[in-house]
Amino acid sequence: MQIFDRYKSSINQTLDVIEGHSIAIKREDLIHPIISGNKFRKLKYILKEVVDDNIPIVITFGGAFSNHLAATACAGKSMGIRTLGIVRGEEWKNKIFLSSTLSFCQKQGMHLICVSRAIYAKKEAAYEIQKILKKYPRYRLIPEGGTEILSLKGCSEILQPGDFGFDSVCCSIGTGGTLTGLIQASLPKQQVLGFNALKNPSVKNFILSQTKKTNWVINPDYTFGGYAKTDDTLISFMNSFYQQYKIPLDPIYTGKMLFAIFDLIKTHKWKWGKRILIIHTGGLQSIAGMNTQLQKKNALLISYEKELF
Ligand SMILES: *Cc1c(COP(=O)(O)O)cnc(C)c1O
Repeated sequence: MQIFDRYKSSINQTLDVIEGHSIAIKREDLIHPIISGNKFRKLKYILKEVVDDNIPIVITFGGAFSNHLAATACAGKSMGIRTLGIVRGEEWKNKIFLSSTLSFCQKQGMHLICVSRAIYAKKEAAYEIQKILKKYPRYRLIPEGGTEILSLKGCSEILQPGDFGFDSVCCSIGTGGTLTGLIQASLPKQQVLGFNALKNPSVKNFILSQTKKTNWVINPDYTFGGYAKTDDTLISFMNSFYQQYKIPLDPIYTGKMLFAIFDLIKTHKWKWGKRILIIHTGGLQSIAGMNTQLQKKNALLISYEKELF
């Protein structure tokens, strides 16, 4: 578990004071070069269990940009655990090299199997995926995005004793696992705000099933059309944010959240206190792949990239 013990907590960086709101950002993106941010937190206790139980292989799911696949591949390699990734979209078969995330996973030794979107949507309930699983006598399945009960515990460790003076804690939402961990760790007087990165109304039910606390709010207004969808307004915001603060954001999660927070404050719709802590959940490995897509569309590019190799 060396890898998880070596990098434990991240720093809060003062960002700015905007309209009287003091904003700090927790640099979980700096916690590890690849297994950054919340994917590191989520894998910690799951992989500990895999090692303790001597399970030879981890099998999980993800798309062509997936931070979770990249993190699992990288953690697996450094811990000597074999990894298998079931990839969303048959079109990536024989074209792994076109996705910087997937080729990174492959270089880490992850075995990739690309399946159609219909099969992928059913996960382990699909016959075709059952057939893959049957080849392994012992394996540990990790859900898409890494969200399960064990990963909530890891995510709750994002908040540290020094963070309880903040009025609000902000985080981007995919499956809602990270937000749930933050809610569990928060004080009742703090507000935990989640910003949807995609359209997923059911995330609310997941959170309700995991916590009795009521100090949380979900904002669904800044998805930019859905998962991994972007536009020039978002990219241009991310580029100027980087220029001003020298902090890179990712286009799928943290870029959208920061855009939302700045927009809410500047349009006087912010009502969750003056001392704001923003969780930078990482995800920077997706920038290179996103830029490849943007270039094809002749759209504005993200002005910074993270070297994966
Ligand atoms: C996966 C991810 C999220 C979303 O986390 P959930 O726990 O699925 O809600 C947010 N930010 C980044 C950078 C991520 O990679």
